[in-house]
Amino acid sequence: MDLYEHQARDLFAEYGISVPRAEVTDSAKQAREIARRLGGPAVVKAQVKTGGRGKAGGVKLAADPVAAENAARQILGMDIKGHTVGTVMLAQPVDIESEFYVSYVLDRAAGTFLAIASSEGGMEIEEVAATRPAAVARIPVDPAVGVTSAKAAQIVRAGGLPAQTADVLVRLWDVLIREDALLVEVNPLVRTAKGQILALDGKVTLDDNARFRHARWGVQDAAPDDPLEAQAAAKGLNYVKLDGEVGIIGNGAGLVMSTLDVVAGCGARPANFLDIGGGASARIMADGLDVILADLAVRSVFVNVFGGITACDAVADGIVQALERVELTKPLVVRLDGNNAARGRAVLDERAHPLVEQATTMDGAARRAAELALAGHNS
Ligand code: GDP
Ligand code: MN
Repeated sequence: MDLYEHQARDLFAEYGISVPRAEVTDSAKQAREIARRLGGPAVVKAQVKTGGRGKAGGVKLAADPVAAENAARQILGMDIKGHTVGTVMLAQPVDIESEFYVSYVLDRAAGTFLAIASSEGGMEIEEVAATRPAAVARIPVDPAVGVTSAKAAQIVRAGGLPAQTADVLVRLWDVLIREDALLVEVNPLVRTAKGQILALDGKVTLDDNARFRHARWGVQDAAPDDPLEAQAAAKGLNYVKLDGEVGIIGNGAGLVMSTLDVVAGCGARPANFLDIGGGASARIMADGLDVILADLAVRSVFVNVFGGITACDAVADGIVQALERVELTKPLVVRLDGNNAARGRAVLDERAHPLVEQATTMDGAARRAAELALAGHNS
């Protein structure tokens, strides 16, 4: 998840990085009040999760509170690269002497972090890198060591930054690690006419896998677009919506992926998939079936389970109990194999639900699920 500039600014401030005084609002009238509080002049900045706001007209320097109100009125509602501006940040203007670029980014290919630094800040770094690659320094950072003051000094030298920025580099690394970020970027990091170092614009991308450790960011912008995906996520299920007609439940990512292929090989298309992982409790099964059956595109459901640590009879028990809680409205084809498969099959046979069929092979089950889905289609 990306943070808004004002959120990045607040984080930087918490970690002792100097930032301009600023406030956020969604009202042009309030913008005027804020500008007054800030001393009169203000930089009015669109809060959208995309860069290049300056070029798009989303950053305006206002000379006084009335101008700030007008600028805010212009910027609020503006579309910047498909993002509608809902709030603006007003910041105390800064007398810029020079602009720099610094960031830490996860380099997945190299399995490490990278510090990127340039004395040509302000512009988009991709542009600088494309036209003047020598002006952009890229220094690997060993995450186990981090950015010590010696490392910061190395980044400063490589990037041609003023020596005073070393302190910001150390603090920015702290933001990256303690906030579980994948990217922290300051562009521009400026030196003011008075020699102060200030972070004027920040971008922070948090690692969604670590969200649970940072409740403060809530669920903003994290909700999946598909309402069923949102419902599944709320129940802690790994569910993905696709656009076919066979609902798929499986245990383990590898098995689920190959189930998608086998169903496609039978001429049907997966409507979605749900990975129940190692869990096969009645609750997970019932919750999973709830989500899968709520998908109107689903014509049949294929439950494909290879019993490992979770034995097939436990999965079958889960299915039977789920059938008590969920009204099955579409045919369910179950293939149980692996640990305790025979006992699992016996449990389902005994339940003898009219809409539940079993198959002994993955191919056979996929064929049957596809057949039922396509028959449902034609009726
Ligand atoms: P971006 O275009 O989305 O990256 O938005 P920025 O916040 O980086 O603003 C773009 C440019 O506006 C910066 O590179 C600065 O040159 C300028 N700018 C932003 N804030 C101030 C300020 O307080 N004073 C001055 N003089 N310029 C500013
Ligand atoms: Mn910027």
